[in-house]
Amino acid sequence: MSGLYIHIPFCKSKCVYCGFYSTVNQKDVDKYVSFLTKEMALRCRETNGEPFKTVYFGGGTPSVLQISQLQQIIDSAKKCFSFEENTEMTIEANPEQLTADYCRNLKTLGFNRISIGIQSFHDEILQFLGRKHSAKEALKAVENAHNADFENISIDLIYGVNERNNRLWQNELKTAFHLPIKHFSAYALTVEENSLLYRRIHQHKTVEPDEDLASIQYNILSESVENSPFAQYEVSNFAMKGWESKHNSAYWHRVTYIGLGASAHSYDGHHRQWNAPNLSSYFTQIEEGKTYHERETLSDIDQYNEFVLLGLRTRTGINLRKMEELFGHERTVSFRKYFESEVESDYYRLDEHHIRLTPQGLWLSDGIASGAFLTNSDDV
Ligand code: SF4
Repeated sequence: MSGLYIHIPFCKSKCVYCGFYSTVNQKDVDKYVSFLTKEMALRCRETNGEPFKTVYFGGGTPSVLQISQLQQIIDSAKKCFSFEENTEMTIEANPEQLTADYCRNLKTLGFNRISIGIQSFHDEILQFLGRKHSAKEALKAVENAHNADFENISIDLIYGVNERNNRLWQNELKTAFHLPIKHFSAYALTVEENSLLYRRIHQHKTVEPDEDLASIQYNILSESVENSPFAQYEVSNFAMKGWESKHNSAYWHRVTYIGLGASAHSYDGHHRQWNAPNLSSYFTQIEEGKTYHERETLSDIDQYNEFVLLGLRTRTGINLRKMEELFGHERTVSFRKYFESEVESDYYRLDEHHIRLTPQGLWLSDGIASGAFLTNSDDV
C-alpha cells in the first residue's frame, strides 16, 4: 500500500473555477473529524499491516482545520496504520491561513511538505478567480512556511486566464522561480460544469477562457522552465531534481492507495472505489459501517487504458517492456504502431523501450492517449 489520502471538504469560500465537492459551511467540521477516525477504524485491515510511504491531506482546504483537529486525525491514523520512517506527509493549504504560528504547528505535527494554493501573484486575477488572499499574503505564506523549516514547498498556479496577458504570465513565473520552493503545479483554467464560472458564462456575465491563450501560455511555461532549476515531470507538475511529489507520482504509476473522507477514491490494484460524495451521505455510509459507497472492478481493458492515459501524462512516458509484461506482446506492438503511423513525430520520442511525449505532446496528452484506447470489442 503506497499512499494514504485524507480528504477535507471544507473551504472558507468557493473559487469561481472550482468543480470539486466542498462546502463553506463549517458547522460539521468536528463531526467530520470524528467520522474520519471512525472510517479509519473500519478500514484498518485493508493495508494488511503494510506501511504507507506517503500521506496527503487534500481538499477542499485542509488548512481550515485547527491544529487540534489535524492532531486528532493524525493520532488516529497512527493507531490504525503503520508508516515508513521517511513518509512524505503533505498538506494543501491556502495562503490566508498560513500564519507563522500555523506553519510551525504543522511542522510539529509531522508535515514535511506543504502545497500552497497561490494561483497568481496579481490581486486583480486573484479577485477574478474568487480567491480570498492577496498577492502580498501569497508571498508571506511562502516566507512563513520557509521560516518554519519547510524545505519541501510547492505552489499552485493557474494560467490561461483571459485577464492575464502573456507578459504578466512570464513575470508570474519569474516571481515563482525566485521563491524558496522546490516544486510547483500549473493548471490551465478550465470550465467545470458545476462551477460558478460555468454559470457566469451561461448567464453572459463573463466569457469563456480562450483556449489559444492557454496553449500559448503553456508554451511560455515550457520555455521558461527550460531556463529554470525546475523540470516538467507531468503535464501540470514541475520540480527540482529529486523533489517530485512522491504521492502524486504513485497515482500516475498506478500504485495502490486508500482515500478517506467524503468523495475520496481508493485503488487496490484491481478495483476503484468511492466514498459517498457529500457530507450527509458520507455520515450515513460510515454509520452503516460501509467501507465504500461505489466500487468498480477494473477489466483488463480498463487497466490498459489507465496505464496508457496516466503513463503518457508523465515525462517518463510508457515503458514498453512493462507494457508487454502486463498486457502482452500484441497490444504493445499495436500501441507502438499507433504512434508511428498516427501521432506527429514532434509530439513524442521513441527509444528502444520507451515512448515519451515531448512538452508539445504533453499539452495534447489526453487526446493522444485516447487514440490508443481499447474498447470492449478489442478484447480477445
Ligand atoms: S479551488 Fe480549492 S479552495 Fe477553492 S473552492 Fe475549490 S477546493 Fe476550495
